Amino acid sequence: MIRASDEPVSNVVDGSDDRRIRVVGLGGMNEIGMNCFAVSYGSDTLIVDCGVTFSHRDLGIDVIHPRFDYLEAISSTIRGLVITHGHEDHIGAIPYLLRKFDVPIFAPPYAKALIEERFEQHEPFHPLRLVATQTETPFEIGCFRIETLPVHHSVPDATALVIGTPGGTLVHTGDFKIEHDPIGSVAFPEERLRELGDEGVLLLMSDSTNSDVASVAGNERSVRDELDRLIQEAPGRVVVAVFGSNIERIRSITQAATRTKRHLCLLGRSIRKHVRIARELGLFLDTPLNVISGDRGREMDPASLLAVASGTQGEPMAALSRLARDDMPELSLEAGDTVILSSREIPGNELAIFEVQNAFEQRGIRVIHRRSHPGVHVSGHACRDEQGALLDLVRPMHFLPIHGTFHHLRRHAELAEERGIASTLVAQNGDIVAVDQAGLSICGRTRTGRVHIDHQQALDENIVRERELLGRLGAATVAIAYGTDSQTVRGVRVSSRGFLSQGENQDDVHREAEDFVSRKLARLAPGEREAERVQTVAHKSLRQFLGTRFGRKPLVTAIVIGDE
Ligand SMILES: [Zn+2]
Ligand SMILES: [Zn+2]
Repeated sequence: MIRASDEPVSNVVDGSDDRRIRVVGLGGMNEIGMNCFAVSYGSDTLIVDCGVTFSHRDLGIDVIHPRFDYLEAISSTIRGLVITHGHEDHIGAIPYLLRKFDVPIFAPPYAKALIEERFEQHEPFHPLRLVATQTETPFEIGCFRIETLPVHHSVPDATALVIGTPGGTLVHTGDFKIEHDPIGSVAFPEERLRELGDEGVLLLMSDSTNSDVASVAGNERSVRDELDRLIQEAPGRVVVAVFGSNIERIRSITQAATRTKRHLCLLGRSIRKHVRIARELGLFLDTPLNVISGDRGREMDPASLLAVASGTQGEPMAALSRLARDDMPELSLEAGDTVILSSREIPGNELAIFEVQNAFEQRGIRVIHRRSHPGVHVSGHACRDEQGALLDLVRPMHFLPIHGTFHHLRRHAELAEERGIASTLVAQNGDIVAVDQAGLSICGRTRTGRVHIDHQQALDENIVRERELLGRLGAATVAIAYGTDSQTVRGVRVSSRGFLSQGENQDDVHREAEDFVSRKLARLAPGEREAERVQTVAHKSLRQFLGTRFGRKPLVTAIVIGDE
């Protein structure tokens, strides 16, 4: 296994004479989320997926997308963006990409509908040129011939990509799992993948999310049966919390509603959006939707109500949290009702989810989750046996694990080696991976990083760091009344936020700080009292005072107000 290296950043971007395929992860390597890959051959580049990640929500950051520096450097070679499926970590950054690049987008129907919906809220600089991909219809972009294959995952229309290039064939699995008895009509494309393996696949890039998890992800059919049983047995109202994009799961709940003669109530904007799009695309044709409008939930006999709610991650404004706080106009739960969390916790969200769970339990509402009832959820990502099966079908010459932290990628590369694939590589975001018949290697590095978005505006790293510091340390301000002509300090005022309780003590500390700063300023020789110097000394001395007094230094701002 070749490990990611710290090779110096190089500008291997003009590959017109390069007969190797170059693959660069701008996101999605060394992390789960923010997937975005550039695949180049000669002077043509294809972008695969363009996703976001979520963190720093407490700092007011809505989403984070990859830096596009590398794409800017090779912009004249970009021929198109191909989307594997409609999850946010694969499509969420498209509006930001289109602010910079005029790129045609090829996406499976469900993802296409979601992207179109998103563009009603965003105004990108470049127009949306969006084409639906069909699994039986290959298409060409630049020198690439793309074939999309249907795979199983937790959103409709998930696809793997077969990317034919003059230098050889790449297979990119997208996010996948293998179900042998799927609820839906789509069978996993084993035959086609085996055929591709027989013909020879140069490089396989495969989903590593569950490379630590033994066996298989489990199938949706078993979740349907378990939910059905739990809903049947539950005495009062039942609320099932799911990811809105998990349409198969919502269909199962819908069918359970019909079987148990309950009325279905959809709670939360994201659930209603996904169900609407799914219906428009004909995905509910065989499932009668006995949906009642939200405001009828309260009138219903408890035993005849089943609700689907968004907010599985404990998001405070989502339907589930609002139900937990009993702050939902459509519905109120009571002791004896049941809440089923048919989802997994995204790492980092555990505390918020526990809070929601506790709020229900304190009110006598039963909460069923996968820790106590493993059957209420299955992952949408392949576990080790499925990853192994895929490797056995494709039998690539080289293997590049994607969609995982370093640990996940390394474990997946080890699995490939166990399956007899000698050439594997654990790369990181920004590595320029070159591949041909002769080998797989890192031939350079390019700049990568994260762009934080707050209300659709990009914030630079400094602002994010400042917000972090403000949250952690608080802030203090020193204002100096300054006689400009005489270069004299006429008064000093200090105030602070976020580290002193209000009251006398706060005022006392502020006065002490003012005295301290004043004394420091008084020591300045007459020739040193120009405004700039006064500001620097005030800033430094307030930091010094607070550091000595409290053992920490909040963010300090010094303002000099002249009398001109
Ligand atoms: Zn996905
Ligand atoms: Zn994903």
